[in-house]
Amino acid sequence: MESSGSDYDVIIVGAGVMGSSTAYYAAKRGLKTLVLEQFDFLHHRGSSHGESRTIRAAYPQQHYCQMVMKSYQLWEEAQAQAGFNVYYKAHHFDMGSSNDPMILSVVENCRQNNLPCQLLRREQVAEKFSGRIDIPDDWVGLSTEYGGVIKATKAVTMFQSLARSHGAVLNDNVEVVDIKNDGGSVVILTAKGEKFRGKKCVVTVGAWVNKLVKKISGVEIPIQPLETHLCYWRIKEGHQGKFTIGGDFPTFASLGRVLLYGSPSFEFPGLIKVAVHGGNLCDPDKRPWGAGVMMDEMKEWVEGRFCGLVDSSEPVVKQACMYSMTPDEDFVIDFLGGEFEKNVVLGAGFSGHGFKMAPVIGKILTELVVDGGTNEVDLKHFRIGRFKSDF
Ligand SMILES: Cc1cc2nc3c(=O)[nH]c(=O)nc-3n(C[C@H](O)[C@H](O)[C@H](O)COP(=O)(O)OP(=O)(O)OC[C@H]3O[C@@H](n4cnc5c(N)ncnc54)[C@H](O)[C@@H]3O)c2cc1C
Repeated sequence: MESSGSDYDVIIVGAGVMGSSTAYYAAKRGLKTLVLEQFDFLHHRGSSHGESRTIRAAYPQQHYCQMVMKSYQLWEEAQAQAGFNVYYKAHHFDMGSSNDPMILSVVENCRQNNLPCQLLRREQVAEKFSGRIDIPDDWVGLSTEYGGVIKATKAVTMFQSLARSHGAVLNDNVEVVDIKNDGGSVVILTAKGEKFRGKKCVVTVGAWVNKLVKKISGVEIPIQPLETHLCYWRIKEGHQGKFTIGGDFPTFASLGRVLLYGSPSFEFPGLIKVAVHGGNLCDPDKRPWGAGVMMDEMKEWVEGRFCGLVDSSEPVVKQACMYSMTPDEDFVIDFLGGEFEKNVVLGAGFSGHGFKMAPVIGKILTELVVDGGTNEVDLKHFRIGRFKSDF
């Protein structure tokens, strides 16, 4: 354990995927870096644990599309440095009503970014996936090249080991209870009474963001902690091989009133992941560990879309996780401001779709610390100020 009173260039609070990737990019840029995590590293009480997360470039917003394309490159670079893989290739397939505005925007974005895509009617979908995916007559499917799966806990481990290899210090079981401005530097106070001093601080505390940020600045950002579940469903006997990763089965999302997503069979042989985007409001410290979200809608979807080849009676494995949801589902990447000015940087509100972009987000958070700005994206999409009327 590091002794109190140490000096760091940057102290990162929270070691989920965002804090861990930031630690890697900060240490790689030569910053004396400290990470403080309240629980054990790789615990299962936040948002970054588990087997898999989907990566896809199919976004309705141009800036996310570009951030994902940059992330593909950064995932490749980081895993090459680590010496093991966390990204596994797959195509991606979106489906939804033919007049769904999201699908239409994704098509437009693919065209603008020169990403090959195929817009398919029901019978073309049936043909492309040889009877494994069916959509209603008034839906369309959109197939794109850029999908894939990231191994979640393995990716967090990767960033933590890479950060250590560049000299970062990472401490777990250290809860940060306050952050003070102290004459242009930042003092971090822990529940055990330790103090750490840093020139800058990055706060990446996931669903706990308002507990900490309200304490230190009085500002309450409208980010809601939601409990949700990843569900794995049993593929019927004899059909398992048709849904595996590495073949032609894609990562997928189904758009509309209920938004579902999933990935090919990979982490548990014979099971396929399908989950609902959304969740139930929760207190991150008093979780209900509830039964699941929109189970009936999921069962109906699994039965209808997978042509009866997947058992829709119940998921076989359920893994609980938390979203940090903003009202517009866009991230919060900004300086905290106020008395901290540019000394405290916030990365939060990743709204159930941030994991894929963790490398570029870690890079951006580091650039905000070191350079005071970034060229990776226009931060206007992610400013805290956009919620001003909600404060
Ligand atoms: C079920 C589910 C499915 C998802 N699927 C996808 C997907 O397919 N694709 C995708 O791109 N994204 C997906 N996401 C979103 C993605 O996983 C999250 O955006 C991402 O993991 C958020 O990481 P984080 O580091 O912000 O939060 P976390 O992982 O929660 O990390 C925050 C850390 O801060 C620590 N902390 C909190 N308070 C303190 C404190 N006071 N002191 C010290 N430490 C503290 C916490 O213990 C925690 O470890 C999904 C999320 C969930 C829950």
